[in-house]
Amino acid sequence: MKLLEDKILACGKVLPGEVLKVDNFLNHQIDVALVTELGNAFYEHFSLYNITKILTVESSGIALAFAAAQRFNVPVVFAKKGKHKNVGDNVYTCECFSYTKGTTYDVTVSKDYLTKEDKVLIIDDFLANGAACECLMNIIGQAGAELMGIGIAIEKGFQPGGEKLRRQGIDVQSLAIIESMTGSSVTFRG
Ligand code: 5GP
Repeated sequence: MKLLEDKILACGKVLPGEVLKVDNFLNHQIDVALVTELGNAFYEHFSLYNITKILTVESSGIALAFAAAQRFNVPVVFAKKGKHKNVGDNVYTCECFSYTKGTTYDVTVSKDYLTKEDKVLIIDDFLANGAACECLMNIIGQAGAELMGIGIAIEKGFQPGGEKLRRQGIDVQSLAIIESMTGSSVTFRG
């Protein structure tokens, strides 16, 4: 998606460890007009799937999921990170490895908000090794719900997550796929 690629070129910063910083428009300050367009693009791709719920992880997936959910007219459920006292035992839990922090953390979703009737679209800001998506897929499996597809804003195509998920037959729609990035340049898959 050219709009997103142009924004990455204008505002993204490549950090050591193959991390792209997009705080300027996605992860800290949010460019509402841009994120609305990203939500529209997810809707265009997945609109025929009868999605009943959008699932993401706090916090950076929430704005994107919200933008898409407005078009699908379905709720957003965001998985919570860490152990939470106030959700009790009525939760699905999965351990996830954080690409950016290099640590593992627990992810929980209340059983009240994901059931076997749900047809779920996962949305997240980045796809790198695929751990976050696999964790959400595990939670969808625990709920007996159905995964309909995965919408990603920025896929780092030089990391294995996208290929791993597509090889399983999952419809992964990434709005920008980075082919390579170095300190001074970012190139996209054509
Ligand atoms: P994965 O689980 O696919 O390895 O990594 C995806 C998760 O790690 C995303 O939820 C995102 O928050 C974070 N992430 C991975 N790579 C990057 C990156 O280059 N920049 C930022 N800002 N987050 C990333």
